[in-house]
Amino acid sequence: MPRPIVLATHNAHKVAEFQAIVARVRPDLVVTGYDGPEPVEDGVTFAANALIKARTAAAHTGLPALADDSGIRVDVLGGAPGVFSAYWAGHRKDDAANRALLLDQLSDIRDPNRAAQFVSVIALVQPSGREHTVEGIWPGRLATAERGTGGFGYDPIFVPDGQPAATERTVGEWDAREKNAHSHRARAFERLAPLLSAL
Ligand code: IMP
Repeated sequence: MPRPIVLATHNAHKVAEFQAIVARVRPDLVVTGYDGPEPVEDGVTFAANALIKARTAAAHTGLPALADDSGIRVDVLGGAPGVFSAYWAGHRKDDAANRALLLDQLSDIRDPNRAAQFVSVIALVQPSGREHTVEGIWPGRLATAERGTGGFGYDPIFVPDGQPAATERTVGEWDAREKNAHSHRARAFERLAPLLSAL
């Protein structure tokens, strides 16, 4: 019998992405979007914010709830932008301005000191109150200029580790399928699978 699980997002694209991944482990789970009250995301870690969103959705719907929170950490900035990734250049939430500010802040910094990671945390909150978080980390470094127009956010300035030096590309130059196979979210999903199996 189909069993609903709610994803704390209004983003239909995210619901579809989660549904595809959840179905691989639990074909009986149907991921639905959430249109209830929005909590204030006042956590200071990705895990805290993912839990805040998942708890609100679980409490409002009475269903098991998933939520994700993500961003970029830059080593030389002590892990910033971190939970401030979406608003790094101000509350207008402007991806291009966020990238430009980060490149400007690191303009005097050379490799190997440009290390950065994309991070994704997924929280699962059950109606019983049981809570879990899983984390996916995608290591890389910041490019010195934007390259590529694919993806969103910091993709055009993030160069994932593990590429041949001669053909290194930013995620903005990758296609979506390639990104989805390697990304921080894919890595978090891998760790979510056993928790879903046990639901
Ligand atoms: P959210 O968790 O989807 O709200 O993402 C928070 C912010 O982190 C976004 O606004 C982006 O700036 C950044 N971010 C998260 N995931 C990615 C990604 O896959 N590529 C580029 N930027 C990302």
